Amino acid sequence: MNFDLTDDQILTRQTARDFAEKEIRPFVRKMDEAGKFPRDLFRKLGEMGFLGVFFPPEYDGAGLSIVDYAIIIEELARVDGSIGLGVAAHNSLCANHIFTFGDEDQRQKYLRPLARGDFIGAWSLTEPTAGSDAGGTRTRAVKDGDHFIVNGSKTFTTHGATGDVCVIFAVTDPSKEKHGISAFAIEKGTPGFKPGKIEDKLGMRASETAEVLMQDCRLHRSQMLGREGEGFVNALQILDGGRLGIAALGLGMAQGAYETALAYAKQREQFGVPIASFQAVQNMLADMAVDVEASRWLTYRSAWMKQNGLSVTLASAMAKLRASETAVRTADRAVQILGGYGYTKDFPAEKFYRDAKLCTIGEGTSEIQRLVIARQVLGGS
Ligand SMILES: Cc1cc2nc3c(=O)[nH]c(=O)nc-3n(C[C@H](O)[C@H](O)[C@H](O)COP(=O)(O)OP(=O)(O)OC[C@H]3O[C@@H](n4cnc5c(N)ncnc54)[C@H](O)[C@@H]3O)c2cc1C
Repeated sequence: MNFDLTDDQILTRQTARDFAEKEIRPFVRKMDEAGKFPRDLFRKLGEMGFLGVFFPPEYDGAGLSIVDYAIIIEELARVDGSIGLGVAAHNSLCANHIFTFGDEDQRQKYLRPLARGDFIGAWSLTEPTAGSDAGGTRTRAVKDGDHFIVNGSKTFTTHGATGDVCVIFAVTDPSKEKHGISAFAIEKGTPGFKPGKIEDKLGMRASETAEVLMQDCRLHRSQMLGREGEGFVNALQILDGGRLGIAALGLGMAQGAYETALAYAKQREQFGVPIASFQAVQNMLADMAVDVEASRWLTYRSAWMKQNGLSVTLASAMAKLRASETAVRTADRAVQILGGYGYTKDFPAEKFYRDAKLCTIGEGTSEIQRLVIARQVLGGS
């Protein structure tokens, strides 16, 4: 067993860290306050290959491994969770759905511009009445010759307004319930397809979260991704990998919050000594260090398993659960260690505190992760 990163993975970390420090760190607060999707930054992320990390070069991807992908998301989130979230949703959800289930024409048409960063990707499963129970999708796609007429609305879609291509899920055969749901790729500007409300959120404010509305939206059957009726089953497979991205996101934010607290504890003096010399503060730092390390290895292990073609349903749910809850706990402790200053916008702790909470909700809540894990350990499907 070898826990060392390869030379290439070390280089990936350094490259992503340098990028995050130079191109993201100076603008974190401004982007958070503006609450707008930073399209120009995503152009630069595309130039770095971060918007097509694990897709082969023939589709304009960077051809890196899933472990490299986890490292990149971790490094971006260490500086700004919003950017990590956007990059994760773009790669793991939209682009990966098209790569995994799309045919060659669809890969050429959508995946290549996505991997270059010319297109921003969205993946729209959640509906106002179908969240954790996404099998309860109501958006309807009715066949009309070679076309489908789609009506319905989606909610909480990352890049729902900005996205150039959006993967949506709609019921093509209501009699088959979950097995009657199909996936389609829709391009921005398609008549009848438009964004709705853009959410005003607690955190992850530079990541755009929007409603997606479809009214008599006419799609050619060539826009269907994968086989008819297999959209929901395919979505679950995509989420297995997506959860790994959210695990890396939580890990990165936890690392950032931990580093903030560690540096502050060494420098801040009270009662004539650095607060790091108080055992109560040391205990918090020790718990943070253990939590971050445990999350890192669960995340890297599930990334390695996916890279090696193993099933990651259990491993990615475990990594996502642990890293998400670590992010929330670690950000909470960081604010505590910074005291009153932790509660202000002069330090990054409060932002990690707001951003981290998303990880226990998006791509399956912590309760749903426990449900997936329990089913697996009890021997269910
Ligand atoms: C910032 C952000 C970005 C997002 N991006 C996307 C995206 O790009 N694409 C997309 O499709 N979706 C996206 N989502 C949606 C996200 O995946 C859902 O919010 C999430 O799956 C939970 O669904 P819900 O919000 O409807 O909550 P609900 O399902 O209504 O859950 C409410 C509560 O009930 C609990 N609960 C529900 N069912 C069970 C159960 N069986 N057992 C125990 N507890 C249960 C939940 O854990 C939670 O605590 C995003 C959400 C946010 C906030």
